[in-house]
Amino acid sequence: MAQQLLIELQDVSFQYEFTQVLTDISLTVREGDFLALLGPNGSGKSTLLKIILGLLKPTKGTVKLFGEPSSTFKHREWIGYVSQKSNSFNAGFPATVKEVVTSGLTKKIGLFKRHLPNQQELVINSLKAVGMEQFANRNIGELSGGQQQRVFIARALVAEPKLLILDEPTVGIDHENVQSFYDMLTNLNEQHHMTMILVTHDVDTVASSISHVACLNQTIHFHGYKDDYDSLSEDQLNAWYGHAVRKIHHDNKVKQK
Ligand code: ADP
Repeated sequence: MAQQLLIELQDVSFQYEFTQVLTDISLTVREGDFLALLGPNGSGKSTLLKIILGLLKPTKGTVKLFGEPSSTFKHREWIGYVSQKSNSFNAGFPATVKEVVTSGLTKKIGLFKRHLPNQQELVINSLKAVGMEQFANRNIGELSGGQQQRVFIARALVAEPKLLILDEPTVGIDHENVQSFYDMLTNLNEQHHMTMILVTHDVDTVASSISHVACLNQTIHFHGYKDDYDSLSEDQLNAWYGHAVRKIHHDNKVKQK
């Protein structure tokens, strides 16, 4: 069976009042894809996400979500989003991990219904998927940045999205924990069949299970399989980004020129 197209952008352009930010973006994401969206600061990554999430309307072009025009798309809960600023609870914040994850259910059950019959199971399964079930009763503020970020991913998963968008999720995660964080994302994609868009400006830390890469800097300079991205020259990448970028392959060796 052909993989369903979950996201389809065609010739999308966007400008804030005076600033042209995106120009002629065409991009597709299919069921099962694990797409890394790469680009330096200010390249338009957040703006592109806001367009996908329906928070901004393109000034030109079309956006389809799950085959439907974005303007009439009714199932926003199918798209989970975890922002880079999620993990900022201090130690005194009065909520347990379980409570934080449960709060993700409002998207699924609406604000006024209070309980789903399988609520507890959904919460625990989401925590299991990110390797955090043993922390269910801990206070969110006592956890490390990486652990908090995992909890926020569980909070998105509890609504049972079909696509998960992560905006620079490793910001605030200690260097030594980044690899296990990416292993967890790999597991979500491969074992839980979660389609994912991982936004990062850090080309050095692309997860090993990425299937596709899109390089954004106002326009899409490259969109294709990860292997084809790996064979791009440093000079080519530098020309797109306007400054030196360094590529590290998933075996963590710096690519030698
Ligand atoms: P990235 O996420 O890649 O850092 P953004 O999408 O946040 O990029 O920003 C792209 C460009 O749009 C930047 O030049 C930024 O200054 C500009 N920009 C972002 N938000 C606004 C806004 N609300 N109004 C005007 N310009 C904005």
